[in-house]
Amino acid sequence: MRVLALNCGSSSVKSALIDTAHGRRLQEMHVENIGSDHARLHAGNEVRELRQGIDLPGAVDELLAAYRSAAPEAVVHRIVHGGEKFRETLRLDDAVLGEIEQLNHLAPLHNPPALAAIHRARAALPDIPHFAEFDTAFHSTLPAHAREYALPADVRRRFGIRRFGFHGINHAHVARSVAGYLKSDGLRIVSCHLGNGASVTAIEGGRSVDTSMGMTPLEGLVMGTRAGDVDPGVLLQLRREGHLDADELDDLLNKRSGLKGLAGTNDMREIERRAGAGDQDCELAIAMYVHRIRKYIGAYAAEMGGVDVIAFTAGIGEHSALIRRRCSERLEFMGVALDAASNDALKLTNDNPVAIFSAAGSRVHLLAVRADEELAMARATAAALGH
Ligand code: ADP
Repeated sequence: MRVLALNCGSSSVKSALIDTAHGRRLQEMHVENIGSDHARLHAGNEVRELRQGIDLPGAVDELLAAYRSAAPEAVVHRIVHGGEKFRETLRLDDAVLGEIEQLNHLAPLHNPPALAAIHRARAALPDIPHFAEFDTAFHSTLPAHAREYALPADVRRRFGIRRFGFHGINHAHVARSVAGYLKSDGLRIVSCHLGNGASVTAIEGGRSVDTSMGMTPLEGLVMGTRAGDVDPGVLLQLRREGHLDADELDDLLNKRSGLKGLAGTNDMREIERRAGAGDQDCELAIAMYVHRIRKYIGAYAAEMGGVDVIAFTAGIGEHSALIRRRCSERLEFMGVALDAASNDALKLTNDNPVAIFSAAGSRVHLLAVRADEELAMARATAAALGH
């Protein structure tokens, strides 16, 4: 069937019309820089400037108008946070949307724009079913010891404090792609999603058993603009001594830290270039970025009693041979052997979405997997409709 997948971020919307029977993209478009004076709609090689000051619902209207003649049979929306309750692909109606709205406080930057887009899309395409796919859902299998923080039970219960994990749509997609590629279901996979946001997930037999993001997407890896793991005592000190209030801390941890805080930019291409020319801040940024990923790989291998596959996905995971190589170094003790030439030559495409770069005979398979949230969302929707 033809499913339209809409994937709204805070300043961008990705979208694709997918033929789920063949897993093919029939059409794809994205809008970037929403909220600035330079919002643009990209459709293939065409780029169109959108009107100044266009907001996310306005951008969704533009996309829907462009897809109308393609007659999608269902629409699926990505929602970052499904809270405790939403663990599966969900058909949307007014009652369900009301419940999802109750979760806005859990993901104030992400859920409200997605809901605004859903309202627009349901109004524009009222005669076809609309579904939601949640980024937290894949991690609903986390065992209690990986899900909880070591805080008193009454505090956890009263304030709903627990780990949720994110990027679940793509980690699930990686797990399925790897299982299909290696023709095996029982694998122990460490999936490294390295985009602007970044997370690592331990996957055993297709189920998430641990993941680096927590109650919010702030925990874990060094990311584009987020710090990842920081001693909470640092935050207490900054707050207590009156240096930063809660909003300023939020801004510091979400927008001014990570690669951007270390190197002045969150563009890994530029960081690699400058590090290659001897820039020490950029060298340190790469060293810290890789160090944190390797720590999680080692931890998750220990948790799963070994590892069969380390998979790299999203912008940096798919495109940076340097980061893949540095993350794979000194893991020989675990049975990892890199094939440097395959790693350097690696190129993923729609027709070639998985590639191997471990050496023949390596006990652990090193794979790069094309991130494809839209395909995963569309397939889940078709399955929910019995296709
Ligand atoms: P988002 O999480 O916003 O979807 P992406 O998955 O597109 O982000 O990843 C963005 C990151 O990927 C940026 O840091 C960008 O510099 C990096 N990236 C893209 N192409 C390359 C490349 N060829 N080499 C190194 N890094 C790359």
